[in-house]
Amino acid sequence: MNLFDVYPLFDIVPEKAEGSWLWDKNGIKYLDLYGGHAVISVGHSHPYYVEKLEQQLHKISFYSNSIKITLQLDLAEKLGSLSGYPDYSLFLCNSGAEANENALKLASFHTGRKKIIAFSKSFHGRTSLAVAATDDPSILSPMNENSNVIFLPFNDESILEKHLTTEIGAVIIEGIQGVGGVNIPEKSFLHKLNELCKKNGIILILDEVQSGYGRSGKFFAHQHHEIKADIITIAKGMGNGFPVAGVLINPEIKAKHGMLGTTFGGNYLACAAAIAVLEIIKNEHLISNANVIGNYIVTEIRKHKLVKEVRGLGLMIGVEFDFPSAEIRNKLLFDHKIFTGSSSNKNTIRILPALNLKLEEADLFLTAFKSCLEDIKK
Ligand code: PLP
Repeated sequence: MNLFDVYPLFDIVPEKAEGSWLWDKNGIKYLDLYGGHAVISVGHSHPYYVEKLEQQLHKISFYSNSIKITLQLDLAEKLGSLSGYPDYSLFLCNSGAEANENALKLASFHTGRKKIIAFSKSFHGRTSLAVAATDDPSILSPMNENSNVIFLPFNDESILEKHLTTEIGAVIIEGIQGVGGVNIPEKSFLHKLNELCKKNGIILILDEVQSGYGRSGKFFAHQHHEIKADIITIAKGMGNGFPVAGVLINPEIKAKHGMLGTTFGGNYLACAAAIAVLEIIKNEHLISNANVIGNYIVTEIRKHKLVKEVRGLGLMIGVEFDFPSAEIRNKLLFDHKIFTGSSSNKNTIRILPALNLKLEEADLFLTAFKSCLEDIKK
């Protein structure tokens, strides 16, 4: 059987990884500044994380959600406290797309409405929402044509009042747009959105799947703007590579047996991984590290004349050029052995390293980046 060929692949076969480093099958060492789309939050094979997963594997790895899994309570308690949402409830699932589907479903249960607002250049996973962060209409399925989703221009405050009416059930927005090229919502835009949601009984869903878990230098990116969401979705960095996701739910949205459900969500291994990640983030002060190292990288990159714009908060950084960024990205990977990410904005590369990236590792990247730009100027 062949693999269904939906991913463009680099011809690199990693065999082991540690911290921010990967080794391929030929022993070549790579600096990982992408973490497989922002998934690696506490570094590859972090010893505490490995130990906790191993211990759990020897105890019990799976049973269905028909029995009490106390690790889920432990996870909810730690997540509530570190995220600043201690009074919210947690629904555990397996991926970002699933978290968003459940969030939209909850919003429709709560409001009795089915229309949804999302924004241009957004990406919320391969859900029943269209993939807005694409210029390629051939990857939009015909299903999307019947969708109840209205896409509004991102960061355009002037049209919000007209569209956020009592017909709308939910607004979904990323804490920072990731796939779309690292675009930060403006404070006044988010505040207006929040105000209109409150006024018209609309559920505000913050998709923090990529921007959450300390990546932006706060636990959630929307916390830079002092707003509170009704529902927050999380995944990627939550399990440091173990598939686990969640939905944080405002206490005003009441649970009912059978309302949501999942087979694998909240299993023992997923919880052990997610708890270990939270403990490492807290004990090793990784949110503060994301701020310090992120600011340093942004400041240094801004000094280069070939760079059009650097956007980002913490260790979620987008670097935009006036030309397609593929050449720089390929040079970083093949000449300097550094992984970075692309985005749907062809001129922008994404830098999404582990939150414990060290200063000397950032310096290695900055030296390589400078050399790539010099090669391009020649
Ligand atoms: N939401 C955002 C903001 C994402 O960046 C992604 C994935 O890139 C998703 C949702 C979908 O997550 P998953 O691939 O785990 O379904």
